[in-house]
Amino acid sequence: MKLWRKFNSFLNMTPREGAEMRDLAVFIRSLSLLFLGYFVLTSIALFATTYYAIAVIECLCAGLFVISFVLTYRGKTDFAMGFFGSVIVTAPTVLTLVVGWKSNFQWCLIVEVLVLYFNLNYDKEMKRKLFWVISIDFALLALLSQFLPHALDFNKFWGVFFHLTTAVSYAGIIHIIAFFYSNKFNTAEENLRDVNLQLRRMASTDALTGLRNRRDMNEYLNMISYSYERNNIPFTIAIADIDFFKHINDTYGHEAGDYILKEVSAIFTSTMEGIGTVARWGGEEFLFVFENASGAQAKAILEGMRNTIDKTVFRHKNDQIHVTLTLGVEDYSQIIGVEAVISKADSKLYQGKQNGRNCVVY
Ligand code: GH3
Ligand code: MG
Ligand code: MG
Repeated sequence: MKLWRKFNSFLNMTPREGAEMRDLAVFIRSLSLLFLGYFVLTSIALFATTYYAIAVIECLCAGLFVISFVLTYRGKTDFAMGFFGSVIVTAPTVLTLVVGWKSNFQWCLIVEVLVLYFNLNYDKEMKRKLFWVISIDFALLALLSQFLPHALDFNKFWGVFFHLTTAVSYAGIIHIIAFFYSNKFNTAEENLRDVNLQLRRMASTDALTGLRNRRDMNEYLNMISYSYERNNIPFTIAIADIDFFKHINDTYGHEAGDYILKEVSAIFTSTMEGIGTVARWGGEEFLFVFENASGAQAKAILEGMRNTIDKTVFRHKNDQIHVTLTLGVEDYSQIIGVEAVISKADSKLYQGKQNGRNCVVY
């Protein structure tokens, strides 16, 4: 078990070029090892049945797989890919011509087609060209092997050994390739899902305060007014505007203004937890939605929140900043619709500003 883990971490070692080449490196390493096994085992059958020359060719090919394996640890993964690809094209071509179609070495060429498409470093044109080279090679071998008399003549034992080794090796090779392809698809899909989620979050969130942005709030209002129509669940809209915010910016600086926006937003979020939601509606304006609550209930909650903010001293660098809010509250009415309700809440806010600010008007 420990040995297997060691082998696994050696196989999965990040190549010198960096993590982005790892998949390709591990792919070549795994396949090189499988092909090495395939060629060594079949060469044993050939040695045993005294096909020495062919066995030696096979051993030479096995050596080439060792080289492609080693190259991936030497910062030459790209080269290893090309090298490995060339070996699994030339070796089966030579061997099929010498040993015949029944040897099954020619199927390495089909494996090369799959390997070729795994390589992201080759462009489409390159892949298309190589695909034709391999296909023509494959077709020529099929044709030529009909005229060349060199089928292997094994006894029963070595015949079974040779063909069983071949069958198991190809099954393993195809399995490994399928595994890497599916891994690649899954990783790509997961990344895409993460990026989509991140984009959606970014598109619906105000970057400074972390609250919903106006666009997201509009979507939410559509949804909640639709649910009002179906289930008759009341809701209330309120709009808040920080008093004399321009003065805060002018006195303490824009950075302090940003700090205040973040701080009051955190208070808004904790106030609305479990009872509704809040969005940054404009520069220093915020829109509140109270779910399943009357205007009177919303007003009471907002009055408490306004009072808390009024009493809080916000400390930014060496400054102590005092902030107040004015708010307008309006019950949702299906007859006039969301936009008109917001505009009514806004009128009440304006009224509050006229009446000296720092108040909730309902
Ligand atoms: P009132 O009590 O009537 O609302 O006065 P006010 O000064 O708050 O209103 P006004 O509309 O004159 O000024 C709003 C200011 O808010 C002007 C603008 O520069 C500032 N502001 C808007 N967005 C931001 C922001 O993201 N950061 C900072 N620091 N200031 C902002
Ligand atoms: Mg304003
Ligand atoms: Mg203001």
